[in-house]
Amino acid sequence: QLDTAFLKNAIRTVPDWPQPGVMFRDITPLLQDPKAFRLLVDVFVLRYMDRAIDVVAGIDARGFILGSVVAHQLNVGFVPVRKKGKLPFTTIAEDYELEYGNATVEMHTDAARKGDRVLLIDDLIATGGTMMAAARLLARLGAEVVEAAAIVDLPELGGSKLLRDAGLEIFTVCD
Ligand code: 5GP
Repeated sequence: QLDTAFLKNAIRTVPDWPQPGVMFRDITPLLQDPKAFRLLVDVFVLRYMDRAIDVVAGIDARGFILGSVVAHQLNVGFVPVRKKGKLPFTTIAEDYELEYGNATVEMHTDAARKGDRVLLIDDLIATGGTMMAAARLLARLGAEVVEAAAIVDLPELGGSKLLRDAGLEIFTVCD
């Protein structure tokens, strides 16, 4: 039985950051604790090791931290989903809405190929906009998102439901 309480306790909530009223889930203590970080990585690796994953796509920037380690352990490649203007080669882009304003994520056009089975990883699902935009990028490349996974789900913000309603499989470790 997975001790998710241990992982949950390693995540710190910072009130009023980055703006008043926001309770920010800070995963840095979890990454800093070697047992928690190892358990977290193991949870992901055990879940996906027999799912024939071709590539892990990690979302800028905290999704890179977990995603790259999981990719390495699964013995597959890692590709970044980046915020606008960071990728040097030919890119495709998807816009999405934030609470205030818009944002854009981009991928290299050769980051995934048609039929690739992709594990999409970020640290947290809030409104789901970021994960949805990343999934749209992968769909445009013809790749299949096996699962969209994150450490934390904030279900009261409706993102995981939105993503499930859009047909994505979602996995999160704690809320
Ligand atoms: P969404 O697009 O689902 O509304 O927001 C999720 C994205 O914003 C993720 O890329 C995540 O890194 C970031 N994010 C939003 N709120 C938090 C939070 O409380 N903690 C962390 N660690 N990331 C957050």
